[in-house]
Amino acid sequence: MQVPMLDLTGQYAEVKDEIIAEISKIFDTQSFILGKRVEQLESVIADYCSCKFGCGVTSGSDALLVALMAEGIGHGDEVITSPFSFFATAGAIARVGATPVFADIDSRTFNIDPVQLAKCVTSRTKAIIPVHLFGQCADMTPIMELAAKHNLVVIEDACQSIGAEYRGKRAGSIGDYGCFSFYPTKNLGCAGDGGAVTTNDPDKAARLKQLRNHGQGSTYIHNFVGGNFRLAAIQAATLLIKFRHLDASTASRQRNAAEYREMFAASRLGNRVITPFCADYTTRHIYNQYCILAAGGRRDELRQKLLAANVGCGIYYPLSLHQQDCFAYLGYQQGDMPVSEQTANTILALPIYPESTTEQRQYVVDTIEKSLCE
Ligand SMILES: *Cc1c(COP(=O)(O)O)cnc(C)c1O
Repeated sequence: MQVPMLDLTGQYAEVKDEIIAEISKIFDTQSFILGKRVEQLESVIADYCSCKFGCGVTSGSDALLVALMAEGIGHGDEVITSPFSFFATAGAIARVGATPVFADIDSRTFNIDPVQLAKCVTSRTKAIIPVHLFGQCADMTPIMELAAKHNLVVIEDACQSIGAEYRGKRAGSIGDYGCFSFYPTKNLGCAGDGGAVTTNDPDKAARLKQLRNHGQGSTYIHNFVGGNFRLAAIQAATLLIKFRHLDASTASRQRNAAEYREMFAASRLGNRVITPFCADYTTRHIYNQYCILAAGGRRDELRQKLLAANVGCGIYYPLSLHQQDCFAYLGYQQGDMPVSEQTANTILALPIYPESTTEQRQYVVDTIEKSLCE
């Protein structure tokens, strides 16, 4: 048995003819940047995320960057975020010249802990970037209350969580901005890099659209300095077609997660493996990743055994952001973010992609049982 970590070929087969036809039309027009397909995608994404406006950009990383730029955040400003995320979250803060400040995570959801977050607010704090990791939202109510109290901007990093819900609200619709990635491994992925920002504020939406095109107002008249964050038409066309399958593929991921949960419960693994925790505030988890915790310092051994048995698996993330070389200047020490550091040493992502089969999942759980119980 072979179980790849992710196999996108199955879902592509379903949409191949449609995508090729659309891309061929785009080549016929030779209009490759922005345009009507990007506009259509923006309204589809905004609707899906219960937001008024969408702005297509070049990647999830650029979505975060342009949202920070839209708020004029830069030198001397502090932005608080999670140390347990993909690098881009903190990278965007540093790229605008602001200082990333890390608040440790909740040990069960792996999302920023609102109690730790509150301790990080200073007179220089301008924004919070909560990350909705692995398909589950951060605990947004206390985060929004803190932001209101200190007049802070909230930029949701929803790159892994399109369609996830917090107490019935869609990811990206709760804060001032929602940032999404269409990198191919995300639940809605394009044919390269792509991303979007959502907002409910018309002024913010207008600023985002201007910033993504070098701050251009009317042609060759630049009101402020932006960047080139323009989404390509072929990415929007691909996304519009794949979007129609998003809810079905999310339902498959949820079913796969439920199967894993039952299989782990029926195994002899007991507390050797901790399966993903779904918070009571989570009304929709979209399982971009299915991450277990391997107790007893045996994660790396388990990973080797899975790989040897042809089971794909991955470590998201092996090193907390406060421990990255490039952030040494921030002065964090090992032990400063104990939960994040511990999670980085014990977490392991298992295959959960929609087309994976029950038999494959049983093989994954059996292999883990063999590895840790014998
Ligand atoms: C993927 C991801 C990003 C960056 O998105 P790109 O499209 O790869 O630039 C940012 N934050 C998180 C949490 C992500 O998972």
